[in-house]
Amino acid sequence: MTRHYDVVIIGGGPAGSTVAALTRRYAPQLRLLLLEKEAFPRHHVGESLLAGASPVLEEMGAYEKVANAGFLEKLGATFIWGQSREPWGFEFDELISQLVAQGKRLPRLYTRAWQVRRAEYDELLLRHAASLGVEVRQRARVTRVLWDREPPASLSAEGQERREPRAIGVEFVDERGLQTVYCDWVLDCSGQQALLGHALKLREYDVQMNNYALFAYWQGAKWLYEYTGYPELTRICIITTPRGWIWYIPLKRDVMSVGFVTHRQTLKHLPEGPEQLYLEELQACDEVRDLLKEARLTRIAADQRRMVCAIQDWSYRSRQLSGSGWAMVGDAAGFVDPILSSGVMLAHELGQKAAYTLVSSFAAGSDEEVRRYWEFYAQTYRTYLQAYRDMAAFWYSNNFSLESWFWQARRILARSGSELNLSDRQAFTRLASGYATRAESLSLFGSYPLHEAQQLVNGLFGTPYCRDELAAQYAGRPLRLKEAELCDGLYYYQGAVRQTRRVINRRTGRYLDLHPGEEVLLSLFDGGHTLTHLEETEQALQALPEMERLPLRSGLDLLVQLEMIGVLA
Ligand SMILES: Cc1cc2nc3c(=O)[nH]c(=O)nc-3n(C[C@H](O)[C@H](O)[C@H](O)COP(=O)(O)OP(=O)(O)OC[C@H]3O[C@@H](n4cnc5c(N)ncnc54)[C@H](O)[C@@H]3O)c2cc1C
Repeated sequence: MTRHYDVVIIGGGPAGSTVAALTRRYAPQLRLLLLEKEAFPRHHVGESLLAGASPVLEEMGAYEKVANAGFLEKLGATFIWGQSREPWGFEFDELISQLVAQGKRLPRLYTRAWQVRRAEYDELLLRHAASLGVEVRQRARVTRVLWDREPPASLSAEGQERREPRAIGVEFVDERGLQTVYCDWVLDCSGQQALLGHALKLREYDVQMNNYALFAYWQGAKWLYEYTGYPELTRICIITTPRGWIWYIPLKRDVMSVGFVTHRQTLKHLPEGPEQLYLEELQACDEVRDLLKEARLTRIAADQRRMVCAIQDWSYRSRQLSGSGWAMVGDAAGFVDPILSSGVMLAHELGQKAAYTLVSSFAAGSDEEVRRYWEFYAQTYRTYLQAYRDMAAFWYSNNFSLESWFWQARRILARSGSELNLSDRQAFTRLASGYATRAESLSLFGSYPLHEAQQLVNGLFGTPYCRDELAAQYAGRPLRLKEAELCDGLYYYQGAVRQTRRVINRRTGRYLDLHPGEEVLLSLFDGGHTLTHLEETEQALQALPEMERLPLRSGLDLLVQLEMIGVLA
C-alpha cells in the first residue's frame, strides 16, 4: 500500500463519496484514499432525498445508477402540521411549472428524488467512487489525524500561537493492525462521529434542537394516496403529535420507514424504555394507527442491530470548517434537524463544493489563495446550514398556520440574498426542494449545459418578466450606479473555484457576482450611456472567442439584476 496520498478522505457516506468522485473527475492525477470503518452495505438513517441532490449525482456520473437501482421515486412531501389536521404539501415539479408555462425545457433531474434504502444507496456511491479510481478501504477505522506538531487541546486556544499545526496524515486500524499514511489534505467526512470536530473541540450544539429519534421498518404498512402518494410516485409524510413528530417514508412497495422524533426530555423517566414510547406514540396517532394495523416490524438491512433503532438527533455545527491541510464535509461539519430531509442533499451539495475547493487548492499559487478558497467554502456552508436551521427552528417553535410556513421560507430566502417575485408558496417549495440560496445558484448549476443552467437560474431566482415591456421601461434611461462597491469575489464553476468581481450594495450588503467579462459592461454606468450602448457592447463581447466561463448576461438582464440588489440609480 502507498504510504503517501494527495488526499485522505475519512468516511464513505454521501459526503465522502461525493468529495472522492468529484475530486477524481476534475483532478484525475491526484491520489485519493478513502477509509471507511464499516463493511458496506451498512444500515444508516436518512432515507428521504431532496431534488437538490440530483444535479450533483449527475455530475458525479452516478445519477443513472441511482435512477436504475430500484429505489422508489419521490414526488414531494405531505405535512400534517400546523393549526389543522388537513394534509398539505408540495411537489418538486412545482419548481419548474413556471418554466414549462413559458414553453421552456429543463432536464427532469432537477426535480427528481428518491426514498432510498441507505445501505444500498451508500454502497452504490462508494463503489462508484472506487470505479473512478479512488482507493477505497473498508473496515479501516481512522483513530487519529496526524499533525506536523501537536495541535492545542482546542483550536480556539491557537490564536496566540505562531502558526496553525498542519494535518499531515492519519492513523487507522484495519485487519492488519495499526497503519499510518501521510497526505497533503485530510477530509473529514466521518458523519455524526465527527472525528476532527471532537478532537479539536469545535462542535457547537443547538440548544433549541436537542432531539432524539426512534425508528423502525414496517412490513405490510398501508399506503394512503393523500399521505404517501402511490408506489410509482411517492411522498414522505410528516405528522405532528403532542410529543414530537412522525415520519412515514415508503421504502419498498411493502415496507415503510416510520420514525418518531421527540425532545430529549421526553425520554427521561420512561419506565418501559424508548421502544415502548415509540409503539405507544404510533398507536396514539390517529393518522398512523390504521396504516400500521396489519403491519409487522421487519429489518431493512442485514446489520440492523435492533428492531426499533434509537439515534441522537441533536443539531450542531462546527466553529471552524477547515484549517491547514484539513477540512470537514457533511454531518462532520454540521447537522440540521431532519424535519426538511436536507441532510443527504447537503452532504452532496457541500461535498461538491469541497471537491472544487480541493482541486483549486492543489492548483493555487500561494497559501493565501488556498486560505481564501476555504474561507469561501466555509461561508457557503454556513449560508446553507443557516437557511435550513432557521426553517427547522421555526417549525418547532409553534404550530403556525400554513401561510406562516410559506412566509417564513420567503423571509429566509430574502435574507440570503434573493430578491424574489416568487409567491410565498413558491419560496417554500424552493427551500424544501433543496435549492436554498440565490448566492450559490450559479455554482449550483455550474456544471450543466449553460443554456439550461441559465434557464433554471432565471426561472427559479429571477423575476419573470416581459422582455419588451422591461426594455421599454429602461430605454433612454442614463446608466448610473448608486451605493455600489466593487470587490473581488469567488464562484464555483465546473470543478473549480474561480475569481470574479462582486458588486455590493454598500448599505444593505446585498450583492451580485459578475460573470467574468461583465466588468467591461459596468464601465458604461457613467451617466452618459443607455441600454442601447450596453446591448451593443455586450453583443461585441459575445462575439469574442468562447472562454471557459459563464456566458455574459444580456444588457437587460444585467440591469434587472443590478436593480434587484438596489444599486441602480
Ligand atoms: C433521525 C434522523 C433522520 C434523518 N432523516 C433524513 C432524511 O430523511 N433525509 C436526509 O437527507 N437526511 C436525513 N438525515 C440526515 C442524514 O442521515 C445525514 O445528513 C447524512 O447521512 C450525512 O452524510 P455524511 O456522509 O456526512 O455522513 P454519514 O452518512 O454518517 O457517513 C459517515 C461515514 O463515516 C464513517 N466513519 C465514521 N467514523 C469513521 C472513522 N473514524 N474512520 C473511518 N470511517 C468512519 C461511518 O461509518 C459512515 O459510513 C437524518 C438524520 C437523523 C439523525
